[in-house]
Amino acid sequence: MDMLHELLNRHKQYFFTGETKSYEFRKKQLETLREVIKEYEPEVLVALKEDLHKSEWEAYTTEIGFLLEEIKFTLKHLKEWMSPEKVKSPITHLGSKSMIHQEPYGVTLIIAPWNYPFQLQLAPLVGAIAAGNCAVLKPSELTPAVSAVISKMIREVFPDEYVSVVQGGVETSTELLKQPFDHIFFTGSVPVGKIVMEAAAKQLIPVTLELGGKSPAIVDQDANLKLAAKRILWGKFTNAGQTCVAPDYLYVHSDVKLELLQHMSEALLEFYGEDPLLSDKYSHIVSDKHFERLKSFLTNGDVLIGGQHKESERVISPTIIDNISWDDPVMQEEIFGPILPVLEFTDLNQVVDEVRRRPKPLALYFFSESEEKQDMITSSLSFGGGCMNDTLMHIVTPHLPFGGVGSSGTGSYHGKSSFEAFSHRKSIVKQTTNFDFSFRYPSAKNGLKMIKRIMG
Ligand code: NAD
Repeated sequence: MDMLHELLNRHKQYFFTGETKSYEFRKKQLETLREVIKEYEPEVLVALKEDLHKSEWEAYTTEIGFLLEEIKFTLKHLKEWMSPEKVKSPITHLGSKSMIHQEPYGVTLIIAPWNYPFQLQLAPLVGAIAAGNCAVLKPSELTPAVSAVISKMIREVFPDEYVSVVQGGVETSTELLKQPFDHIFFTGSVPVGKIVMEAAAKQLIPVTLELGGKSPAIVDQDANLKLAAKRILWGKFTNAGQTCVAPDYLYVHSDVKLELLQHMSEALLEFYGEDPLLSDKYSHIVSDKHFERLKSFLTNGDVLIGGQHKESERVISPTIIDNISWDDPVMQEEIFGPILPVLEFTDLNQVVDEVRRRPKPLALYFFSESEEKQDMITSSLSFGGGCMNDTLMHIVTPHLPFGGVGSSGTGSYHGKSSFEAFSHRKSIVKQTTNFDFSFRYPSAKNGLKMIKRIMG
């Protein structure tokens, strides 16, 4: 589409003016973003209710408040992150200085999913602005109310050549991916991640891919079961399980399975009351298609808790299903909804083997009082990140990079990692002209002899 090409050209021309690169400019834009998020908070809350039935509490903690914290942290450290890093120079470089400059990529494309539609579009933008880039935002077509607010908000405060919003579905994304962006930041599913990486590869565009997968919660015999139950269910049923780092399935030691499930049953009652379908603290499913997909999983195994659903409102109560095997459809793909299948084990090594055989998870949660076992899990299994004795908390700190590994993603962000995700580390040697070592030139007499004394 010529329109998109023109848009990108306008961004590039603006980027080349150099205006986006000064500290003062970046700081001002981050402050502007913070203020407009605050100003639009009521509209964002309404839109999140409309698209996902998100409660104000969830909307604030996981979307709006999260972003404000991210901006606060970035503003506090931006100057320090931006300053060129001095590094040592070897003897071969005598007289010179070596530096690493953090260079903005240029114009970045940020494609967002629908599950945290506000936060997942704007948190990468914080990094993009901090690093001095221009950005094109592509929000999800499945959350039209939030996408409209993002578009209105961004248009109100940022010139179109600096940050712009392009709304649309697959065709729009496909066209965007043909454009010569300087960087692509994609958050979404594994299959679309492959499409994005393939499109980027054609033009050798650097990518950050924040993907998904099946993240296990493993509960061993010696875990604090009551806390494990609450923390796993909180992580699972926040946003009705539509969270990339939600525990996808539960792997529990057979000796403590019944007790854990009993605690889970009590915790669910405490969280969402007798009828979660009526709870205003409980999110709904994003679309009819996703609702139907999730409903089909309810016939897998035996429903232990929940299973109730209401099609007209696209809501499924928090559900725990037992008697599940790896061959059941619910174990073949990322669930991304309020259904928690339960598998059991008797030997932790068996769990390690099973998890290793599958794609590397985005997150992994292990519940045990034994530091030795915690260390064993951390060192034996590869996964994006995770928690010992908790869920989700590793992604809500600006001090830890958040991202996947292998099929759960490439690159990371949050805090300083967001700045780094949108920056190229450019190495510069500033050479002296006060003297010159002639032995490096092919014409030098005894040059190789000298070089061998220095190198090797
Ligand atoms: P999705 O991959 O279907 O869509 C994400 C974005 O890609 C949307 O903006 C969509 O318009 C666009 N898109 C869809 N099909 C495309 C195509 N063929 N070509 C180009 N672009 C296309 O993902 P989703 O359903 O919106 O989100 C759910 C997935 O995202 C889950 O797998 C979840 O685990 C993952 N996710 C990951 C993170 C993370 O931070 N790692 C966060 C949230 C969600």
